[in-house]
Amino acid sequence: MIDLNGKSAIITGSSRGIGAATAFKLAEFGSNVVINHSSENSREQAEKVAGSIKKKFDVEVLVIQADVSDKEAAEKLIAESLQKFERIDILVNNAGINRDGLLMRMKLEDWQQVIDVNLTGIFNICNAAIRPMMKARAGRIINMSSIVGISGNAGQTNYSASKAGIIGFTKSLAQEVASRGITVNAVAPGLISTEMTDEMPEKALNKMKENIPLNRSGEPEEIANTVAFLASDLASYITGEVIKVTGGMGM
Ligand code: NAP
Repeated sequence: MIDLNGKSAIITGSSRGIGAATAFKLAEFGSNVVINHSSENSREQAEKVAGSIKKKFDVEVLVIQADVSDKEAAEKLIAESLQKFERIDILVNNAGINRDGLLMRMKLEDWQQVIDVNLTGIFNICNAAIRPMMKARAGRIINMSSIVGISGNAGQTNYSASKAGIIGFTKSLAQEVASRGITVNAVAPGLISTEMTDEMPEKALNKMKENIPLNRSGEPEEIANTVAFLASDLASYITGEVIKVTGGMGM
């Protein structure tokens, strides 16, 4: 059984979608959780997620607004989490955005924003969290990549590059911290029903669905289940891996 009782987890970008489902799942297995969102607009949504977790499970929940692409804000997020829970057992780098478009029309701003949030955000958070985790000689880091970080996808050069970068980052950090008892893995979801994919044009969505052997998009909870497994003792001998959760797409 997965037992995360007494652990504390930070899940970046957990005001909705995969991040919120992950916070729920880790709390269901007993972990205290830090809910993070980037903007004032999503505060209410983040508080709502926190409220429903507290109502359902006997765990502590902290909500912190921080834009992970802002180094100072990322450092503050880690410092406040440590102040409350004293340690970081589980770190889920989930915050991510997309700004899709063909390369020939892509503005530098759309490239930069995606790299800043998806890739530099993970650097900022890990950079701030790694010392206390190394000191504790234990920890689980789980980074949210994507199937398109492996396969590429027309219209997503910026997003795919950031998600491929996460895989290289994951494998390198896994090698740096393995001797300290910390595992670092990535999850590569396929097409998951969230606000991010709701915004995709129907034509592109249907084209993607044609390539899913299980013939449906995935649910956020199906990614959360994989994160919970990687965060648990059941995954004690897995590090530097990329686990695809795609309904068979890109197998
Ligand atoms: P989503 O529904 O759009 O949720 C994104 C979350 O990230 C929100 O809570 C958002 O909060 C937060 N966020 C965005 N920018 C942030 C920033 N700079 N700092 C902190 N938080 C930030 O997306 P999702 O579909 O759940 O995706 C979650 C992760 O899975 C992403 O990394 C995404 O790339 C990855 N993924 C998703 C799919 C899919 O099909 N959905 C597939 C593969 C990989 P705010 O509103 O406050 O910014």
